[in-house]
Amino acid sequence: MKCPICQFTKSKLIWNDKIRSGKNSWTSKKQKISHCQKCDTIFLNRRNADLLDNKVFRKKYDGSNSILRYKSFNKPREKNKLDRIRKYVNFRNKLILESNCGAGTNLDYLKSKAKLTAGLDSEIYKNHVEKKHLFFSSLKELKNNRIKFDIILSLAEIEHQNDVYSFVKSLKNKLKKNGLLIFRIPNYNNIYMHVLGKNYLRYDFRTSHNFYFSEKSSDFLFKKSKLKIFKKFGFQEYSINHLIEYIKTGKRVKKYKKIINKKISNEIMINIEKSLIATSFIYIVRK
Ligand SMILES: [Zn+2]
Repeated sequence: MKCPICQFTKSKLIWNDKIRSGKNSWTSKKQKISHCQKCDTIFLNRRNADLLDNKVFRKKYDGSNSILRYKSFNKPREKNKLDRIRKYVNFRNKLILESNCGAGTNLDYLKSKAKLTAGLDSEIYKNHVEKKHLFFSSLKELKNNRIKFDIILSLAEIEHQNDVYSFVKSLKNKLKKNGLLIFRIPNYNNIYMHVLGKNYLRYDFRTSHNFYFSEKSSDFLFKKSKLKIFKKFGFQEYSINHLIEYIKTGKRVKKYKKIINKKISNEIMINIEKSLIATSFIYIVRK
């Protein structure tokens, strides 16, 4: 299987089994997943394009694509990411675009600091987001607008893309010179994968993720896209108590006991992030 990122022809088949197809469902047929032996990217052999539309994706995976559902599910998670990014990036007086903005909770938060806030997402969020921000319902619509941005956020979508390289390139084209592009990228080589192996992967591999990245493959992608890495760090989204419960039950769990207290748990999270085995990375790259 040829690698869609670096075009290298030697890849290793790492999965040929059912994968998750929704919140609590799996595909009826086996799906193949390959690992490029050159750039380290992992990809679905048959990539899905229909789940790129958040109208379809959020309904399937979050249970609903409503504004209310977005706010209750995503608002705290997104705010958490933004707070970490704010340690390195100053949003004051900037022209900011958030790709995959959903109901615009991050944009709402940035609005008072920024010079201009704009969002890109499915048309289903248009009426809601447009009350406070500029809104684009497609990459094409964004491309046709002359505006360029100081900062572009893309915090939950790169792994969903069908053609990652052109996606990164099209966002790069909307950046001003020296502008920053900020990605949150799920880390394949995370602590869950190392500890749980196949038992993690059978919940993690899913139809909506066309790609799985590591530090090596992320670095490769940005180098190829001629973007300079300004800052990268691990971003751990779950407490160690979540992993303990997962180990005990053998299942991806929602509720878990607080076996380890908050202070120690926070220290462990910091160590996980430092050793780059966190569940995600934040990459801040410069044009
Ligand atoms: Zn490759």
